[in-house]
Order: sequence, then structure tokens, then C-alpha cells
Amino acid sequence: MEQETRCIHLEQPTKYELTGSISMPIYQTATFAHPELGRSSGFDYSRLENPTREQLQNIVAGLEYGQSCRAFSTGMAAISALMELFSPGDHIVVSDDLYGGSYRLFNTINQKNGLNIEACDTSDLEQIKAALTDQTKAVFIETPTNPMMHVSDIAAIAELCHRYQARLIVDNTFLSPYFQNPLLLGADIVVHSGTKYLGGHNDTLAGFLICKDAATGEELKQIQCTTGACLAPFDAWLILRGIKTLAVRMTAQQERAEALADWLQGQPHVTKLYYPGLTSHPAYNLSKRQSRGSGAMLSFRVDTAETARQLLGRVRLIQFAESLGGVETLLTYPMTQTHAAVPESLREKLGIDDCLLRLSVGLEAVQDLKDDLAAALK
Ligand SMILES: *Cc1c(COP(=O)(O)O)cnc(C)c1O
Repeated sequence: MEQETRCIHLEQPTKYELTGSISMPIYQTATFAHPELGRSSGFDYSRLENPTREQLQNIVAGLEYGQSCRAFSTGMAAISALMELFSPGDHIVVSDDLYGGSYRLFNTINQKNGLNIEACDTSDLEQIKAALTDQTKAVFIETPTNPMMHVSDIAAIAELCHRYQARLIVDNTFLSPYFQNPLLLGADIVVHSGTKYLGGHNDTLAGFLICKDAATGEELKQIQCTTGACLAPFDAWLILRGIKTLAVRMTAQQERAEALADWLQGQPHVTKLYYPGLTSHPAYNLSKRQSRGSGAMLSFRVDTAETARQLLGRVRLIQFAESLGGVETLLTYPMTQTHAAVPESLREKLGIDDCLLRLSVGLEAVQDLKDDLAAALK
């Protein structure tokens, strides 16, 4: 089956009940009754497993070609649980250009708990080679990165990691399983903030961990059952609903992003575009090779902080908000929003300054988006 068909038909809800319901029911229950000692429906308590969540997990595992998937209350809950796989003294190499929340988790709670976190530019294989040691247990990357759109070579990094018996973890939020499948390229674990493209409507939060091997999946299940940040049944249902239109949304949002990237390049006050779908992007060829699309996220630089401020204050159709991946186009100011937790010195080094803006392109007509940006830039 093609990925767009899999989004809709990978798992049939009829597995759970006999009414013929096309939409998976929301099993809004905390617990499950047992007919007698030693017999169970397979469900005991919703922190451990719930049918609506299980259905969603099976679908997301299938879309990422993994052996197992766990659904969490948020993307950060998923990444927090993931880091419980590691022990004090373990060395973890991470992308230097990361979602701000991941940066904060790694450098506060994880460091405090004894993990040795080292950041480098993971789009440069030489830097990863230099960072890997016998203590390295994992490399954690985003590709493309947030917000600078650096692209890392998943297959090459996986091979390097495996030489050191380290796992490659890929946060695949930006491209979604519709455009990129890291496990097929050699990665071991995939992370998603389901809040973004999987949900797709800016109306709920969710997170996922998908594993290539069942044993790690079982370990993560134990961690999740113990620490408890599971996805609630209603939120699981919203994400199930979102996934049914993932393919059409990704395709249409990408079309709009490509058109806007082209157009923005020629606008007064816009000085630089960051979008892997542009032939001028340094990793255009790599991106074409490892992904089926360039996605609908783009960052751009304007001439002055005053222009950035004006744009944020004057867009009308486009909303000035953090987050991404929904049908509404959002304009983000990474410096004060998504990346406020990143220290100024590192932000400056990466280029996340007062002239950088990030656009999550939604589903509005391209002309309306252009008109809104043009009016705000004038
Ligand atoms: C939003 C985001 C997260 C965190 O997800 P939440 O659902 O907000 O907790 C992690 N990684 C990336 C790339 C994100 O965009």
C-alpha cells in the first residue's frame, strides 16, 4: 500500500468491536473489568494500554516502519522518557541546532542526572566522527533542524553510530513519516511531536517514540508505564483523525511553502531564505536523496530587527505564534519563542538572532499568504 492509503487503512477499528464503526471509538475509560481471575480483555488500566491509543500506536509504527510505538502526552514527554534509556556517565551527541525544549531538557535535567551531553553540527560528518567515543550511547539529531534547516545525512550517521554500538535517534517532526522514514535509512529510534503534522490542526499535543527493534520498544513501554506520561484517549483519537489527511496536507502545504520560498526571495527587506527545497540550499541533493519532500517549514532573514518587529505586528491572516505543522500558517520569532531557552552566545553562533523569522506554511491560498506578507513588509 502507498503511504497515503496507509494513513487511512493501516489498521481497521473493527479489530476491537463488532458494530462496523469506521472511526475508531474513543475508549474513555481509566480501567477495564476482568471476568475472572486470570482472564483479561488484554486491557487492564489505561496508563498501561488503551484501545484508542493502541490503534494510534500501531498506525504510527506502521507509517515509520518500526516494530513498536509508544504515544505520549507531548513531544517533550516522549523525549524525556527516551532519555531514561540512558545511565549516568553515558555520552550523548546531539545536534547543536535543536528544538529549544529539547535543548533545555538535555542541558538541565539530563545533565543534572549525569548524562554527558555534547552538541555539534551534525550536518558535518567530521564533527560527529570527532565527537564519538567508546562512552557514546546515542546520537540525537533533527533533520532538517529547527530553525536553521541544516540537513544531516541519516544513513551515514547511522553507520558511524553502529561502529560504536551507539543508537541513532532522529526527531522526524519537521518532515513527518509522509516525507521521511529514518528507520529505513538505518536510524534506531524515531521521535515525533504529534502536536505538529501528525495532528495537523493546532488543537492538541502528543508525542511518539518509534523503535526499529521490539526489545527497545518493550523497554520504553516499561518506562512509560512507570513514569506515566501517556496520551489520553480523546487526544489519541484527534491524532488518528489528523493522520487520515496527513498525505494531502503535507503535499498541499509543501506546494505552498515552495511557492512562498520562491516569492520571498525576491521581496524587499528579505535577505536570506532557508528551505531545503531550494536548489541553493547546501544540502539540496542530500535532502532529495533521503527524503520524499522538503516539507512546509521555512526560515528567512530580514534586513533589520525593526523589519522583523513590524512583520510580526502587522500580519493579519498569518498568526504570530509558536508551533508548526497545522493548517493555519504561523509566523514564529525563534529568538524569543521556540529558542528562548538557548543561550545567546549559541543562538548568535547558529544565526538565531533578531532578524530571523520562521514560517510554518499552512493550507491557505498562496496568494492570500503573499498579500498578507507583502502588506506587512511594506
Ligand atoms: C514541538 C517540537 C517538539 C516538542 O513537542 P511538544 O509536543 O511541544 O512537547 C520536539 N521536537 C520538535 C522538532 C518540535 O517541533
